[in-house]
Amino acid sequence: MTRYVFMFDEHPNPSKEILGGKGYGLAVMSKIGLPVPYGFTITTETCKYGKDLPEDVVKQIDEHLIKLEKSSGKKFGDPENPLLVSVRSGAAVSMPGMMDTVLNLGLNDDTRAGLAKKTNNPRFAADSYRRFMQMFGNVVMEIEHDKFEKELNTIKNKHGKKLDTELTTEELDEVIVAYRALIQKERGEFPTDPKKQLRMAIDAVFSSWMNPRAIAYRKLNDIRGLIGTAVNVQMMVFGNTGETSGTGVGFTRNPSTGENVAYGEYLLNAQGEDVVAGIRTPHSISVMEKELPDTYKQLMDVFHKLEEHFKDMQDLEFTVEEGKLFMLQCRSGKRTAAAAVRIAVEMVKEGLITKEDAIMRIEPNSVTQLLFPQLDAEDKKKFEVLAKGLPASPGAAIGKLAFTAEEVKERVSAGEKDVLLCREETCPDDIEGMNLAKGIVTARGGMTSHAAVVARGMGKCCVCGCGDLHIDAATKTISVGSKKFGPSDYFTLDGSTGQVYAGKVQVKDAEVSGNFETILNWANEFKRLGVRTNAETERDAKKAREFGAEGIGLARTEHMFFQGTRIRAVREMILSENVQGREVALAKLLPLQKGDFKDLFTVNEGLPVNIRLLDPPLHEFLPQTPAEMEEMSKEMGVSVEKIKVLCTNMHETNPMLGFRGCRLGVVYPEISRMQVRAIMEAACEVVESRADFNFKGVEIMIPVLAHMEEMKMLRELSVGVANKVLEEHKLTIERVPYTVGVMMELPRACICADDIAQYADFFSFGTNDLTQTTLGYSRDDAGKFIPLYLEKGIYEKDPFQVLDQNGVGELIKMSVSKGRTTKPNLKCGICGEHGGEPSSVEFCHRVGLNYVSCSPFRVPVARIAAAQAAI
Ligand code: ADP
Ligand code: MG
Ligand code: MG
Repeated sequence: MTRYVFMFDEHPNPSKEILGGKGYGLAVMSKIGLPVPYGFTITTETCKYGKDLPEDVVKQIDEHLIKLEKSSGKKFGDPENPLLVSVRSGAAVSMPGMMDTVLNLGLNDDTRAGLAKKTNNPRFAADSYRRFMQMFGNVVMEIEHDKFEKELNTIKNKHGKKLDTELTTEELDEVIVAYRALIQKERGEFPTDPKKQLRMAIDAVFSSWMNPRAIAYRKLNDIRGLIGTAVNVQMMVFGNTGETSGTGVGFTRNPSTGENVAYGEYLLNAQGEDVVAGIRTPHSISVMEKELPDTYKQLMDVFHKLEEHFKDMQDLEFTVEEGKLFMLQCRSGKRTAAAAVRIAVEMVKEGLITKEDAIMRIEPNSVTQLLFPQLDAEDKKKFEVLAKGLPASPGAAIGKLAFTAEEVKERVSAGEKDVLLCREETCPDDIEGMNLAKGIVTARGGMTSHAAVVARGMGKCCVCGCGDLHIDAATKTISVGSKKFGPSDYFTLDGSTGQVYAGKVQVKDAEVSGNFETILNWANEFKRLGVRTNAETERDAKKAREFGAEGIGLARTEHMFFQGTRIRAVREMILSENVQGREVALAKLLPLQKGDFKDLFTVNEGLPVNIRLLDPPLHEFLPQTPAEMEEMSKEMGVSVEKIKVLCTNMHETNPMLGFRGCRLGVVYPEISRMQVRAIMEAACEVVESRADFNFKGVEIMIPVLAHMEEMKMLRELSVGVANKVLEEHKLTIERVPYTVGVMMELPRACICADDIAQYADFFSFGTNDLTQTTLGYSRDDAGKFIPLYLEKGIYEKDPFQVLDQNGVGELIKMSVSKGRTTKPNLKCGICGEHGGEPSSVEFCHRVGLNYVSCSPFRVPVARIAAAQAAI
């Protein structure tokens, strides 16, 4: 018989998959002896039944409820000594705020009276009852939260009370009456039988798995393959019995910076989510040391034990009932990339984890956050701080003000790029808008408020609890003192200090240093793959080298053709009617190209540089519009008619499969000759510039190659020119090493890899085009249907972003093995976008490539992914 229900301490080997994250945490905490209110977990496997639980499951729930009653000494529905429980959802992956929880379940008029009598605290019983009706009414009976808040506020206003805690028992009774009427009106009778309440709540949790918010969250965070949520039924402990009780949330370390200090917030005389909901402003945990010193000690002891056990920073929920601490939840804490790095490095130094563990802890993609621009400290001084909030999630964000998540969505889809979401406080419905905003600022809420937690998870800059901002969503204005701002005004947020500026503060590039540098250096100790960069400008190459690139994997020569006046020489070449004319024009380009290559070689001293010969169809360099033709005609003294004819002649129906790449070199060898000469002269000149110049070697790469004869021809051409240049400079190939290889981007080249390898010194997989040509999807048009393909599950990920390992990947594998049967040491690399995508990097490691190459800002990502692949 399948077991669907387990008491917290019963499962022989608890796992998140079966107990859900929350159930798993409760099980582990129970096992290591932390104070956890007792209860049971209904497994994730049960979720598939939704509301239609089989008899067998219902029976198991009943049996476990009896066990809970026995151990607690209380009875469900017993007016003398009632057992109250919480019904809590929890899937294997934490989904903050997505699924719903009901507290104080088991209350009705009788048990409420019993609770009041038993605790000698009628106000507490009334408070619990009104909370229960509200949560049950909202979560289970699906009556809007606002409707309850409205009733509550009416009664608060009537009695001139601001805070919930100020309401008396009698006033709370008025709320209860109002709630009962509301529920009656909206949905009918409020269920009074605790068993029925429990069943309804369990059903609601299981069905909340498929509610639109939960589905949207899973989609946004790319969470797949989960079977459902578990349900936890747990004895209530009460933080709302008075001033020696309370509830709080904590982190064993600072989740924003990673600093090793206890971190968190709590509220006295409060229950459940009061802390996060921003109803009252919570106290920092450091205050607890004075307010409740004993509890504080217990809590610190728990923090310590949890880190010892999980060897990771934990995020936890606790409740204090009359001074006694209870743990309600623990999980690995969400943290910013900066915090992740700092925690990982410090935990190695503390001896908690190994370097390998530390590297495995870093989500490779997240480190791009650390490379985001920071506010320029100098420029910042010129601005006055408009308001200061809490530094909830670091980074800098500059944008115009939007007042609802909807507005962010609308403005971003209308083409605006830089929009900040400004809210009184955020709620789960805001997630999509938060994701699209550049940054988030809220007027209310602490470091563990919804906005703060979600923003940190997204790696998005967030300032929260900025009380000086009066945000009015209705009129779309923010006022600060006498100043007023609207949708077209800019704010700058500094998520590291919590400062808010009016206007746009300048940003500057980030650098790799401190703990980040440490972890990247550790990555180098483990990784086998080389990590190079795709760059052709001196600036990018420099940046990439700072980020640890080990050379250039792809320099696209044509990118330089568009700069300044160069395009003229290129056009002159295209216009030429014969070889002589072309050579004259090419001669003008040669020194320009040479200059660029010298810069690249200089920046990459000691590292290999791969330069690709001309790739795009020539007509890309021709004018597109009549006005441009006019201009070209004037500039070059050629008639507009002649230019028009030329453009028409050169027009191609399908240029991406047209006259481009090595085909240009085959038809116009003088172009390739000029480029190889420019490369080799540049190489010789940098070598001559300094006796000790460490020239590691240049790789000359032939693009869009399909046939070994093309390779043979262009290799002979390249070697001929290269050796001639070496001779002219009286330099040897040992001093100026060069190789000639192929960019593998056509299926035929992959299939004939063994033949091609006879003439190629290296293969570099150009997976952007190889994906396009293998799938037969035009890169420029695929955007129209790929999203649908993903939705329908034909591909799991966009194949232009994440390497299609079964298709394109197989071709790569085959090419490498065929190529290496011809040349056992054939150097193989990848230079498509995929070279900086973690799962693709892992694939490259597995199939034995020598290196990956990616854009400069992906270099740190690739280094970590490469190390993870090797561990
Ligand atoms: P979420 O997943 O949204 O955090 P939880 O199930 O953790 O939902 O519960 C919501 C709040 O109720 C949390 O603050 C939690 O600590 C509190 N809570 C849950 N169960 C109990 C309980 N048995 N006694 C007291 N407080 C509880
Ligand atoms: Mg929780
Ligand atoms: Mg290509």
